[in-house]
Amino acid sequence: MHVRTLTGGLAAALVVSFSLAGGQAVAAPPDAEGASLAARVLIYDAGGSAEFRSAVDRGAAIWNESVDAVELRPAAAGQRANIRVLADNGWPRALPTTLGNGTVYIGRQAVNQGYDTIRISAHELGHILGLPDRKPGPCSSLMSGSTAGTACTNPYPNAAEKTEVEGNFGGALVGPAPAARAEVIVD
Ligand SMILES: [Zn+2]
Repeated sequence: MHVRTLTGGLAAALVVSFSLAGGQAVAAPPDAEGASLAARVLIYDAGGSAEFRSAVDRGAAIWNESVDAVELRPAAAGQRANIRVLADNGWPRALPTTLGNGTVYIGRQAVNQGYDTIRISAHELGHILGLPDRKPGPCSSLMSGSTAGTACTNPYPNAAEKTEVEGNFGGALVGPAPAARAEVIVD
């Protein structure tokens, strides 16, 4: 992520340099590679996640550590968010609208049964990032969800899950997003 940030800064600096040196209006050169390297920023609003706020922030941070193509950033006050994260008394679930957008529910029903709140948070955010459930599955899989059992506290996506998210967002700036889905994914 640091490398990408620096790359973006360097690209911006180069554009400024071209402008100063050229002394005329010159469009920035096409830079498809640079565009594809820029992480797509998704704003999430965890203001409604009650006692799960820190778990949600940790789940988002885990995704930021795990992939380069997308960055989950907490909403500033009043900022419009791509992702709303809410706490409720049901089973955890996600309602993706389009890729990178939707609502996540951190359901207390699963938490009360002993499921790990950070794994739940990362799993549900995974749905917003375009991942389906992979059940049943092992604890090493984030998207195996509850089928890995309450003893499983792994909140990290495995290599295949990371690759899939990189693919979902890696081409986001140079190609069309996957088709919208508007169905609730329970657990
Ligand atoms: Zn799920």
